Amino acid sequence: MINVLEECKGANVIGISGHVRPDGDCTGSVSALYQYLKKALPDVQIELLLEKPSAVFADLPGYERMGRSFAKQTEFDVFFILDSTQERIGFAEAHAKKAKKRINIDHHISNPGTECDVNYVVPEASSTAELVYELIGKENLDAQIAKSIYIGMIHDTGVFQYSNTSPKTLRIAAQLLEYGFDFPKLIDETFYEKTYVQNQILGRALLESILFMDGKCIASMVDRKLMDFYQADSKDFEGIVNQLRVVKGVECAIFMYETGTLEYKVSLRSCGAVDVSKVAEYFGGGGHVRAAGCMLSGTYHDVLNNLSREIAKQMPGFQV
Ligand code: 5GP
Ligand code: MN
Repeated sequence: MINVLEECKGANVIGISGHVRPDGDCTGSVSALYQYLKKALPDVQIELLLEKPSAVFADLPGYERMGRSFAKQTEFDVFFILDSTQERIGFAEAHAKKAKKRINIDHHISNPGTECDVNYVVPEASSTAELVYELIGKENLDAQIAKSIYIGMIHDTGVFQYSNTSPKTLRIAAQLLEYGFDFPKLIDETFYEKTYVQNQILGRALLESILFMDGKCIASMVDRKLMDFYQADSKDFEGIVNQLRVVKGVECAIFMYETGTLEYKVSLRSCGAVDVSKVAEYFGGGGHVRAAGCMLSGTYHDVLNNLSREIAKQMPGFQV
């Protein structure tokens, strides 16, 4: 394990970043590490370099400092990359490259774990938040930090449901609950609650989904027209791919939305038979065995054909 404070010794300016389109784990981890460093190193300038996360995370400390851009000349002594590889942090990448020391903390199996000066990449961990918990140490927690870590954990484990939930994950969660925050409210407001429009889009995506490979694969897509009609963006599609995956008989679910002309952000989910991180990596993305993503170009049908060819290579009974 690395010693975060030791690594930050002598630093005057520290940056903390995470992946584009930050999810709950990314946002919770960045918020937790930010609070810890601010407390432990009160004289150090600490900056957050993260796209603005969904407003459901607005109560997390540091949220108001997320989504801001930075002067190119800012020089970072230490630069943290959380829940991501360096090439997936968007505008923060240019700053990371110039930083004196880069520290990577991640749990994606697709992360080579050798990119930065210091790498703490643990694919067995449920979430980056779980890793941040360990790095901060139980004795340095407070109620707010605990809440940020808890949010990260519930989002990446589907509220302690997915196979990445380990006995250790639950022991950490138990420690966090000792702080007495209103966890059912937190789970409802950040994980389950949907706006009316989000639910309508979910309905549309389910209605227009197609089954193939004898019902073992399911796919759906949201195009620009639909996004414009509902005034929706990427933050409104959270959870759709999971709902597709739970269709009886489905082994692998695909959800995509149009990010530009003939360009899609693809989300993949698996029930275990197919390692979707391999599929995503083949197309330049990454993720976990049961949850991964990538960007793809072409028509919806081209993209589906390409994806299903790679999925079939692993799907029992469909190998060519
Ligand atoms: P989601 O489908 O929810 O966007 O992402 C599922 C998992 O795959 C997350 O852990 C996410 O970080 C990862 N992931 C999604 N898209 C990409 C991508 O384009 N590149 C990489 N490396 N990982 C991705
Ligand atoms: Mn994560």
